[in-house]
Amino acid sequence: MSKNYSPAFIEKAHRATIYNEPEILKSTLCTCFYCGAQFNPQGEEYLPWTDGTGGRPHTLLCPYCGIDAVIGDSSGFPVDELEFIYACSSLWFGFCSRIAHGTPLHRRPPILIEVD
Ligand SMILES: [Zn+2]
Repeated sequence: MSKNYSPAFIEKAHRATIYNEPEILKSTLCTCFYCGAQFNPQGEEYLPWTDGTGGRPHTLLCPYCGIDAVIGDSSGFPVDELEFIYACSSLWFGFCSRIAHGTPLHRRPPILIEVD
């Protein structure tokens, strides 16, 4: 069954990509709506946050592409639903994202940094 997400819902989801530190830290699955990477923030050794401004929470940049288009599952948005992800990606990036044309998502294992 096809779901249609309203522009208002997609716009609301866009707001979950900024100042999202509290949600990201509670999430076990995050999706980048630009490059399609999915990862568990609990398992990542390095999460690139932006500097907080005016006391607001930090914004997570995608560890794989550096774009601030990451939503965690604790936000309540269906971050594992392809149709939702493609709808957001198309609308936010005007079909210029890496996944706007239906490129599959890729579940990323954590980046492990080995130290001797
Ligand atoms: Zn990305």
